[in-house]
Amino acid sequence: MNIVELLTSTTSRLPNQPVIHFKRARLTYKELQDKVYNIAGGLKDQGVKKGTNVALMMTNRPEYIITYFAILANGATVVPINPTFKEQEVTYIVNDADVELLIIEDASKPVVENAMAQFKTVGKIINYSDTEDDRFLSWHQLETSSPISEITPLHESDVAQIIYTSGTTGNPKGAMITHGNLNWMAITAAVYNQFVPSDRVLCVLPLFHAYAKLQGFLAPIAHGCTIYLEERFHPVETLKAIAEYEITIFLGVPTMYAFFAQVPQVVEQLDFSKLRTAGSGGASLPAELLHKTNESFGVSISEGYGLTESTVMLMTTHRSLPKKVNSVGMPLPGIDLKLVDPEGNEVVNHEVGEILFRGPNMMKGYYKKPDETANAIKDGWLYTGDLAYRDEEGYHFIVDRKKDIIIRGGFNIYPRELEELLYQHPAIVECSVIGRPDPVFGEKTVAYVVSKDAELTEEAVRDYCKEKLAEYKVPDYVSFIEEIPKSGTGKILKTALKDLDKNVLPN
Ligand code: AMP
Repeated sequence: MNIVELLTSTTSRLPNQPVIHFKRARLTYKELQDKVYNIAGGLKDQGVKKGTNVALMMTNRPEYIITYFAILANGATVVPINPTFKEQEVTYIVNDADVELLIIEDASKPVVENAMAQFKTVGKIINYSDTEDDRFLSWHQLETSSPISEITPLHESDVAQIIYTSGTTGNPKGAMITHGNLNWMAITAAVYNQFVPSDRVLCVLPLFHAYAKLQGFLAPIAHGCTIYLEERFHPVETLKAIAEYEITIFLGVPTMYAFFAQVPQVVEQLDFSKLRTAGSGGASLPAELLHKTNESFGVSISEGYGLTESTVMLMTTHRSLPKKVNSVGMPLPGIDLKLVDPEGNEVVNHEVGEILFRGPNMMKGYYKKPDETANAIKDGWLYTGDLAYRDEEGYHFIVDRKKDIIIRGGFNIYPRELEELLYQHPAIVECSVIGRPDPVFGEKTVAYVVSKDAELTEEAVRDYCKEKLAEYKVPDYVSFIEEIPKSGTGKILKTALKDLDKNVLPN
């Protein structure tokens, strides 16, 4: 088994079906497969084989997908790197993952140039953008090699990708995701969402992220769909692309939907009648945004929950079941999931517990980190660090991350509850609630708020919360901010916000 067989199997059935559409150019399945075999030949000539870790630091373009498959076709492992990372972040991953070959493009060259003296294991760097710089190999050199004749056969436990994540605690760690994990996930996700060859999938999520790889190209390719790949997210352009290309499946994150909600006049003018699925994942989707988007798109958003360590998705609501507001649905078939209290006992319905899971999508472990792996996986169960409750019909509701809970004067405050309320305020565009250390209460609550009304005051926000929440949950401080720090996939970075908050004097 090798995950590249997802591509070759579809190619044998649908060779002339378009697979990637990018900037008005198209590739068919056969053309994609030929390019993969060709670049795989070039990489093989550079010594890439089973056991080689190859870092891929590129923005969204068809060559990302080609290179990804070409690395795997040789039995080697992909280490995706966010192309917006700076020297220190790149150096950490490259050295931690024992990367031997790094593939970049011109945009990442300045960062890589500054970092390369500190790389310990990198023998070669390939620059896709083909500069005349002889410190780098060119893409053209790869293309001139002979194609491979066959894909390297692998075992399902062989590692396909090492994805860096901060996990529930500590420094970034490389989650090892196997060919078996990817294969199970791609097929399950595609069957679950009923992907068919006539589907047109818009992928604007950054391809370095696991969600984009799985839902954006592996699952669609397994079922012969066409992928409309976009370089970057822009609210108006992305909305226009959904309408113009008659997209049937859109994959998003909550921040994208928040931006769409800011341009109602554009939404009104466009026709989204072909859209049948709009997905959201990676972070909670506030109920207010869910309602607005369902109305604009005329479809009901399908929210999924998962983490890097679960390959991608753990839970969602099956298409044939009614969706419940704020619920991430139920575990995918084949996944065991339980909610436990701090002593490890399963909680009853409606009681909050930590999510534990096991199943075919569980990572193999953290690369070269046995202690962290043992900390995350105990007795075969992976501890997610996320808290949730379940209702009597089996629907799950994510409450918050264990580590984000604010304990104020002995009371537990779930920031998400407060955030949900703030999102309902007509002037609030985005928000995030964190705890600020306090000598008396242990922690106090700070609501960071992006407001479209310059007149909105701290007092007005607190008064608004007071009407709806118990006094102890009302934010102690409200800070107005231009932008909330987010990761490349739009996930709010609470640690960055807490760092920023350290420099703010309590008012
Ligand atoms: P990552 O490993 O970077 O993909 O982050 C995974 C984390 O994102 C999970 O552990 C959750 O805390 C959070 N997450 C993902 N999907 C959702 C969701 N639908 N609702 C709430 N939190 C989510």
